Amino acid sequence: MDETRISQHDSVCTLYKRIKKDNMNNIWDRYEAQGLGGKPDQRCPFCMGGVRCDLCSNGPCRADVAKDKRGVCGITGDGMAMRMMLLRNVMGASTYHYHTEQTIKTLRATAHGKTPFKIKESRKLKSFAARLGIDTTGTDKEIALRLCDYAEKDFHRKDDEPSLIVDALATQERKDAWKKLGIFPGGMYGEMMLSTSSCLTNVDGYYVSLALKAMRLGIATAYQSQIINEYCQDILYGIPKPHEMRVDLGVLDPDYVNVLPNGHEPFLGFAMVQLARKPEWQKKAKAVGAKGLRIIANIETGQEMIQRWNMDDVFYGFTGNWIMQEAILASGCIDLFAADMNCSMPVDPMYAEKYKFRLVPVSELVAFEGVTDRVNYLPEQADAQAAQLLQMAVDNFKERRAAVEPVTGLPLKNAIVGFSTESILEALGGTLDPLLDAVKDGTIRGIVGLVSCSTLRDTGQDVHSVAVAKELIKRNILVLSMGCGNGGMQVAGLCSPEAREYAGTGLKGLCEKLNVPPVLSFGTCTDTGRLADLVAAVAHALGDVPITDLPVAAAAPEYMEQKATIDAIFALALGLYTYVNPVPPVTGAPNLVKLLLEDVKGVTGGKLDVETDAVKAVDGIVAHIEEKRKKLGI
Ligand code: SF4
Ligand code: SF4
Repeated sequence: MDETRISQHDSVCTLYKRIKKDNMNNIWDRYEAQGLGGKPDQRCPFCMGGVRCDLCSNGPCRADVAKDKRGVCGITGDGMAMRMMLLRNVMGASTYHYHTEQTIKTLRATAHGKTPFKIKESRKLKSFAARLGIDTTGTDKEIALRLCDYAEKDFHRKDDEPSLIVDALATQERKDAWKKLGIFPGGMYGEMMLSTSSCLTNVDGYYVSLALKAMRLGIATAYQSQIINEYCQDILYGIPKPHEMRVDLGVLDPDYVNVLPNGHEPFLGFAMVQLARKPEWQKKAKAVGAKGLRIIANIETGQEMIQRWNMDDVFYGFTGNWIMQEAILASGCIDLFAADMNCSMPVDPMYAEKYKFRLVPVSELVAFEGVTDRVNYLPEQADAQAAQLLQMAVDNFKERRAAVEPVTGLPLKNAIVGFSTESILEALGGTLDPLLDAVKDGTIRGIVGLVSCSTLRDTGQDVHSVAVAKELIKRNILVLSMGCGNGGMQVAGLCSPEAREYAGTGLKGLCEKLNVPPVLSFGTCTDTGRLADLVAAVAHALGDVPITDLPVAAAAPEYMEQKATIDAIFALALGLYTYVNPVPPVTGAPNLVKLLLEDVKGVTGGKLDVETDAVKAVDGIVAHIEEKRKKLGI
């Protein structure tokens, strides 16, 4: 792959050279190999337009809307593209919800005293339970168990039984709008069944109906999966608060036993940090010749962890997002890679063999060809499982250190991580007023929630995301970043105080006054729900203005997988201007494109924008924000 197409980050470009030297199969070359006609980004035009289907034995079919060429069953290109999008949405929703189920199991087992964890945020437990209308009398254990029962009951409501969680957490104005459209959701499982069943051959072939089903699934996911998940993880592990964190591949020191929890679920990662902080485990590492034992936060599991826990010499730092996975593994510094439910690549076993680390799935969702090690997470056994993983890592150290030449001297930076609604309020002195005043008087023009992944389409890793974020802050727009894109922001230095230099005068002044960076690290893609809750709080503080009237927008400059697609659909249902890149596979479906880009505005108030150029993308966001400011009279 052309060197300019590797990554925003020097560390990754350095490791790519090693990967090439070692002749390893890698994501950059695989991406290029998928291209047609020597163009890495060129793929089959039907697939890129979303008008290709292989759901039944009469296919694969290709559609052309202009010629009214339909699938054998008669579905149009618009129907095909939206049906495939809805199936992606179901996968994303399901995976989010798998994580949420594990969190509820963990909270329940913790309330019974059967895990190595404690309920850390008793006040949040009570306040969140109260918001949901749950009885808050009695002990933390009793309240936590009631919360688990309440959430699980809601998840299992049928699609025609309105969700109590959505009812308790969404704004009245949004609830009214969703009811009017018939997209107020039932429980997660009912919604996933409704959507999946609708996608069967010869069931729902109407793109508008499929799009509305996607929205109700998106609403269910944001409130039932994401908010319940993140707030229960806060209750267990702590509310994110701003603190410094080491980031980039310089966090990897080959002389330590390095354990990398990877994926999205932080349970075993936290259990391992708790153990590794004990002197006996440091002694075990030293006994095999290492300087010590470190847990290195990685990808979204790492993001879940670093937003809540402070670094020290054991919980040492954060590497980056999923695209740099092979670079991390090729560093020659890894002893154990614990793979939970998200973002572990099928190619990892080759890297484990070459660079001598143990690759261990820790979720029943994850499997690798040729890997027989497995420690499926069970909350009640978390302590013993964490010890088993640490022991495997310690036992690996000598062989790895003897056999693999490590790459050292990689860049190391500091980022400020750990912003949340609570910590933003705290930084503002207990009220949103200083932020709202800055919006009202124009010091900052608006706020963008950057919820993104990282992809190689059109640019190298994080290149487009960083370009969009820099352009936003230059134009005095505060950015809250989430997801793998947030990892990109941290490693690129935009979550550091020094990044104020890139900000426009108003934003720079505000950041200096509040002592915050211009890009606030707001967690993972699962924190999309948390962001919706913050947006609702802002709408309320401004006098219950509709969310659609706020000078805010959502941006996904490098969306990648199926979880991201359900976030974008939810943003539209929430009524937000939503910038998405790369261009999703819908361009062969002109009526669907018109629905998403134009008509949805009159339906939910949201609007999709697609644009590959960073400056033009921000032009669109700014125009939207200025229009909203005008409407609010500010
Ligand atoms: S479901 Fe319809 S479009 Fe899809 S493969 Fe079957 S006949 Fe073709
Ligand atoms: S959905 Fe995107 S941001 Fe979230 S874990 Fe997957 S790649 Fe990362």
